[in-house]
Amino acid sequence: MKNMEEMFANTGALQKGHFRLTSGLHSDTYLQCALVLQYPDKARQMAEQMAEKLGDVRPDVVVGPAMGGVTWAYQLGLTLGCRALFAERSEDVMSLRRGFSVKPGEKVLVAEDVSTTGGSAMEVIRLLEGYRANILGVALIVDRTAGKLDFGFPYWSLYQIEPKVWRPADCPQCQAGIPTDKPGSR
Ligand SMILES: [Zn+2]
Repeated sequence: MKNMEEMFANTGALQKGHFRLTSGLHSDTYLQCALVLQYPDKARQMAEQMAEKLGDVRPDVVVGPAMGGVTWAYQLGLTLGCRALFAERSEDVMSLRRGFSVKPGEKVLVAEDVSTTGGSAMEVIRLLEGYRANILGVALIVDRTAGKLDFGFPYWSLYQIEPKVWRPADCPQCQAGIPTDKPGSR
């Protein structure tokens, strides 16, 4: 989606270069959704696009994993006209805290900013299954697998991108002697 790529590039949320990821892998792409979501008007545009994709899918509540899913879930809740919660890890287990809860049978949409392995969203799905919620699916801003995720539920994404990653020993930019960049330094 051209519009999304421009929005990401213009806000610095998508940068090209030589980056060391938190996983230790190297990549030619830096991706940080928070840099788009810092602009509420852009968050609103993305939520409106997602609402269009969702069509008739109308949740009673949106739940996002902290931290990445917090503002995205909140903006989706505003656009879709429903409650917005976040789940957070408590002693390593994804939980609803702060008095948040979901009733059995409530229609729930899981909201995540970016997913590479589907891990955090999957943890939220497991959590919601414990509440016997009616899980409608997962709404992603960025699908870093370009369509290969499997949540066992439908999922929607606004932007599909599969950046190249390498182990440092195999990284062609390292082999070419190119120093790594700090995000934002270009
Ligand atoms: Zn490298």
